[in-house]
Amino acid sequence: MGHYHITHDRKACIGCGACLSVCPENWEMIERNGEFKAKPKKLDINEDEYNSNSEAATICPVECIHIEKIKIKKRSAEELSYGEDEEELDSE
Ligand code: SF4
Repeated sequence: MGHYHITHDRKACIGCGACLSVCPENWEMIERNGEFKAKPKKLDINEDEYNSNSEAATICPVECIHIEKIKIKKRSAEELSYGEDEEELDSE
């Protein structure tokens, strides 16, 4: 099952609420200093949560939501015994 990481550029967010309208389960509007901006409830999501969050990223008019796939390769006991570092995070 895939794992994904959400990045939200809060400064760029114009608080239009579009993300919330397509993905209310993970997006909410938060008021700070008199300004409403979107905020993701969770930054790390799984495959089941990907589609609606991806829709939020697509619908965002200022493209301030980015979702990247996180690759986590599980180490087998054998690999661990050889001390190989097989775990990696794709971060871009
Ligand atoms: S759709 Fe984009 S600009 Fe609009 S509230 Fe959500 S994150 Fe902010």
